[in-house]
Amino acid sequence: MSNWPSIDVLVKQVKSGQVSAKDLVDKAFSFIDKNRHFNVLISELKEQAYARATEIDNKIKNGQDVGRLAGIPFIAKDNFLTFDGYTTAGSNMLRNFKAPYQATSITRLLDEGAILVGKANLDAFAHGASTENSDFMITKNPFNETRVAGGSSGGSAAAVALDMAPFSLGSDTGGSIRTPASFCNVVGIKPSYGLVSRSGVVAMASSLDVIGPLTNNVSDGALILDVMSGPDQLDSTMIEKDKDGYGNFEPLKDLKGVKIGVLNDLMNEGLNDKIKIRTQEVIDSLKKLGAEIVDISIPSIDLSLAVYYIVCPAEVSSNLSRYDGIRYGHHDDSAVDLEDYYLKSRSEGFGAEAKRRIMIGTYVLSSGYYDAYYKKAQQVRTKLINEFKQAFSAVDFLVSPVSPDLPFKIGEKTDDPLKMYLSDVMTVAANLTGIPAISLPVGMIDDLPVGFQIMAPFKADRQLLQVSEIVERQFK
Ligand code: GLN
Repeated sequence: MSNWPSIDVLVKQVKSGQVSAKDLVDKAFSFIDKNRHFNVLISELKEQAYARATEIDNKIKNGQDVGRLAGIPFIAKDNFLTFDGYTTAGSNMLRNFKAPYQATSITRLLDEGAILVGKANLDAFAHGASTENSDFMITKNPFNETRVAGGSSGGSAAAVALDMAPFSLGSDTGGSIRTPASFCNVVGIKPSYGLVSRSGVVAMASSLDVIGPLTNNVSDGALILDVMSGPDQLDSTMIEKDKDGYGNFEPLKDLKGVKIGVLNDLMNEGLNDKIKIRTQEVIDSLKKLGAEIVDISIPSIDLSLAVYYIVCPAEVSSNLSRYDGIRYGHHDDSAVDLEDYYLKSRSEGFGAEAKRRIMIGTYVLSSGYYDAYYKKAQQVRTKLINEFKQAFSAVDFLVSPVSPDLPFKIGEKTDDPLKMYLSDVMTVAANLTGIPAISLPVGMIDDLPVGFQIMAPFKADRQLLQVSEIVERQFK
């Protein structure tokens, strides 16, 4: 159980003067101080947070409007550009980088009175599933310090699990919100592609990247999504938000008339037996609530990981080309000429995983291999999109586990990148197809948290949240 009440309760308390924004910042830092050894935050923004709190408390005293998130502390993954502090993306390349502009999502939250208290650890450039690729430190799992917190938004998930703030932000290119959410026992929402502006979030793979909240419960996540979503002129790929928004749905009494498809293709080999059993128990509870459960097959889903690990590195190699050591980021001034300058700056600034992805990406895009790899992958991606559309013509939601494993031991997968990539087998399809997906905590197995994934049709984020809320109630 979290030490924080729900965000709407907190906001009421702040607005009524029952607690001050400063009290909430005190509370956030008491948990940050207590849990520093979990390696969660790359930077703490104490001074700035207290200054903001004073500003908000003064406004309240003067009867001014303070917004829908008045005084609520939050933590952003360190790939969100912020005016306060540094933005490192977890990489040596950006270790001392001061952002010249701010992510739209951050600005929207601040405009509603939220208070940024820290920036969370991540796999460098969000490449990974465990935060072990961070150039700063490895975030430990809040439930067992010998295990990983998941990734790449491991710091963000652990921050909420350790009560450092009532919510945090993550980015999800292939599972990076959902996997750490499931490893840390929090709710992680990956919205539809384009629902939240990507402006000001360090680009990983632009056709897959989405950003979303990590929270203690579904309704907190829904409120944060409501504040962040909606068109932004700085991101031309955006979609309209639901006309009813996301923060105010009616709680469902049951699931009568709701059709739920089980992705059996994801429930086979490689899945931890105990997770399989727990997933089945959750499905049984949906049935008890009146849902109609059917088996659904997505014939191409077993290709999704292969497609992801072609499309993603292709886009990564392109996005990382901007780090030339000249415009910004790490640079090595001992270079003798321009080529040497690029070579030295990039060799020193990027870690092994970024280099691996640059090589794979450049390879699959090169003229001799483009047709065999990149083009083929895009064709299968289109097929996958169509198969999901077809599935959603028969059911309202699809469900599966989030991860094939429980939080694994630190170091267990680091010497074999393919093992690490396999962690993403259940999550990447939602990114390739752009659909919304959520990870919900569904209890513990062997004292470690486990999550349950629900996916909905593109743009059906509101419906996804509504059904998630009733599922959540079964496990409280
Ligand atoms: N684990 C996946 C990868 O390494 C997903 C990363 C992400 O979603 N940012 O690519």
